[in-house]
Amino acid sequence: MIPLRKNIAEMDGYVPGFQPKDEGAWIKLNTNENPYPPSPRVAEAIRAELGDGEGLRKYPDPPSSAAREEAARLYGFDPAWVIMANGSDELLNNLIRAFAGEGEEIAYVHPSYSYYATLAGIQGARVRTFGLTDKWELADFPELYEGKLFFLTNPNAPLGFTYPLEFIEELAGRVAGMLVVDEAYVDFADENALPLVRKCPNVVVTRTLSKSYSLAGMRLGLAIARPEVIAALDKIRDHYNIDRLAQAAAVASLSDQDYLRGCVEKIRQTRAWFTGELRVLEYGVIPSRGNFVFATPPDRNGKRVYDALFERKILVRYFSDPLLSHGLRITIGTREEMEKTVAALAEIG
Ligand code: PMP
Repeated sequence: MIPLRKNIAEMDGYVPGFQPKDEGAWIKLNTNENPYPPSPRVAEAIRAELGDGEGLRKYPDPPSSAAREEAARLYGFDPAWVIMANGSDELLNNLIRAFAGEGEEIAYVHPSYSYYATLAGIQGARVRTFGLTDKWELADFPELYEGKLFFLTNPNAPLGFTYPLEFIEELAGRVAGMLVVDEAYVDFADENALPLVRKCPNVVVTRTLSKSYSLAGMRLGLAIARPEVIAALDKIRDHYNIDRLAQAAAVASLSDQDYLRGCVEKIRQTRAWFTGELRVLEYGVIPSRGNFVFATPPDRNGKRVYDALFERKILVRYFSDPLLSHGLRITIGTREEMEKTVAALAEIG
């Protein structure tokens, strides 16, 4: 027996969505990747940074200053309010490391992003979940939640609905610790919680470049919070958390907002079309503000439809959790991919 910490020995690792080896053979709608390539500026910037490879001899800029400044400019904050990360998962992890010690509590909404629980488990922190009412409101949330961190995924993943901003503001006052608003999908929605970062001292917003910016393969995320929170996160991150090529990619993609808007608009249009088609097939669909929809077949048997799509080389996300097993989370791909998916669903019945 190796002398592992007890909580590590006992925990299950997180299982990410399946990444098939023969990617090209699939319509891949299972991990909320963007079907469009990143801004053409990204490849240009990476090529320029790479040159003949000589520059890779040297470590990258530890605070990712250029990317931080670009993000700060974009969101209208001083750079002291922004931190860059190797995917927003790194920030979720470091927030728990910064705020929740062994035996202390964090909480999140179930269903939402269960990786918060895995990360808390690594720290030996305790995890509590709050459920949802049938109106997508938090069930049984106390007047004052006394845990160290509360994670609110907004838009909710995998369900796709959003909480109103006024509610998030009220919630910030009911969380004694930090309220982390995980805005991984917010670029596909209509409003975001950045104004609350200034208004409420305990609000942290996390973002990713994996979805709207089409950079899942680059691993880039960021957080916006008060400088004292950012300073704490800065202390505990890997000092070289973002490599040179990724830093160049971050600056290039954040600077190309026209390109971002174009991609987001196409996905929003396809999302609206696909939602309508699913309803024609008598699927239950929650109106989504993300780049995915949660859809329930008429017989409420998510696994049956998952398997039938899988046979047709269409990959979607099925969760065996009893609160989710009646449906499927389907990423919004290109219009052509979604037309093929609708045709397959019609055939499957
Ligand atoms: N939050 C949510 C809600 C997500 O779905 C994801 C992607 N799986 C992440 C955070 C992590 O994103 P990334 O690490 O790619 O930035």
